[in-house]
Amino acid sequence: MNRQDDFAMLQRQENGAPLAYLDSASTSQKPTVVLEAMRAFYQKSNANVHRGNYQLAEEATEAYEGARKTIADALKVPSSTIIFTKSTTDGLNLVAQSFALSEVQPGDEILLTVAEHHANLLPWQRVAQQKGARLRFVDLNANGEIDWAAFEKKLNQKTKLVAFAHVSNVLGSVAPVKALTRLAHAYGATVVVDGAQAIGHFPVDLKDLDVDFYAFSGHKALGPTGIGVLYGKSALLEEMAPVQLGGEMIETVTKTSATFAKSPFKFEAGTPNIAGAIGLARAMTYLEEIGLSQIEKEEQGLLSYALKELAKLPEIVIYGPLSAARRSGLIAFNVRGVHPHDVGTILDMDGLTLRAGQHCAQPLMTALGVSSTLRLSFSVYSQKEEIDRLILSLKRVLEVFS
Ligand code: PMP
Repeated sequence: MNRQDDFAMLQRQENGAPLAYLDSASTSQKPTVVLEAMRAFYQKSNANVHRGNYQLAEEATEAYEGARKTIADALKVPSSTIIFTKSTTDGLNLVAQSFALSEVQPGDEILLTVAEHHANLLPWQRVAQQKGARLRFVDLNANGEIDWAAFEKKLNQKTKLVAFAHVSNVLGSVAPVKALTRLAHAYGATVVVDGAQAIGHFPVDLKDLDVDFYAFSGHKALGPTGIGVLYGKSALLEEMAPVQLGGEMIETVTKTSATFAKSPFKFEAGTPNIAGAIGLARAMTYLEEIGLSQIEKEEQGLLSYALKELAKLPEIVIYGPLSAARRSGLIAFNVRGVHPHDVGTILDMDGLTLRAGQHCAQPLMTALGVSSTLRLSFSVYSQKEEIDRLILSLKRVLEVFS
């Protein structure tokens, strides 16, 4: 059976052609099993969690906490270290506001790369401004990868925090997380990783990577929107104060004070996105049923085919590593002399959905010397034929603009 059959969305037409959804890095499509899991919760088990002591409330709590356990097991960490958030953005902001605002002191340094998504840049800008800390940036090498020597050179005893993406949402390059983390730890820095483009594309073992914080969004990994995960090491989470205050996150409350529950509950004030958590856990199970190593292998095949075919068109400029083995999931490119928005419009007419824009990475666009790019991105349902259609359509673009 074609895996595309698992995704009802992929049966639709786009401008009269079968939809070739090539924008999974923006958001992935959702398999029917995820939609069904969420519907089943609302239809059969819906109640608030952690409150009522009636049977149904216990069932809902078990489903929600079961989802947390499924995700924790997939990432090889304890459940208490998995905080449900809204998204990657939400998780990174939580680390900035709770951890960094109290830990970073005037004169300290926060080290980022020039390739960061705005979600992994603006929260640190705010911390630096509020605490009188200094933001520093690692440049990338000609391949669009983190330059090791440059990274190590920027580390020193003042480096309090290091934040970088596991996979760049523009360059597709995969950061050597474990090695960079070991280096940063040698200087006593805390490591925050933006996993938005990694989860769902290859196996991620957070215990082995040894990062301090790791954030991702459910919607990019076949799960629903409005749910994300922040992982944090237990010792750090224990010391951190909650940012949002309210119901569900307390131990005791008096008129003038409160004590808070343990992690992860103290970070989840108010009624959580229960169905979202259940949907995300089902997505993780679906991914594991296929096998993340298998998904990685298949996506590698697509990347290497797409890189080869794109390179046959001399007008195409590719950003990031030219070897598929050094990439994951996506390829940003431009057609020389044609604005990416114009290219995107013609591709859309042929049923191909590719994002054209700055990809929320303006400093990287500046570093690359471009205003925007197109981006081709894959997920478990992507097909080689879709790349063939893309190449044909790009040839049409070249004819139109010749
Ligand atoms: N970081 C990276 C690398 C991303 O690709 C994205 C999504 N474009 C984000 C962070 C933000 O994700 P979200 O909008 O789901 O919070």
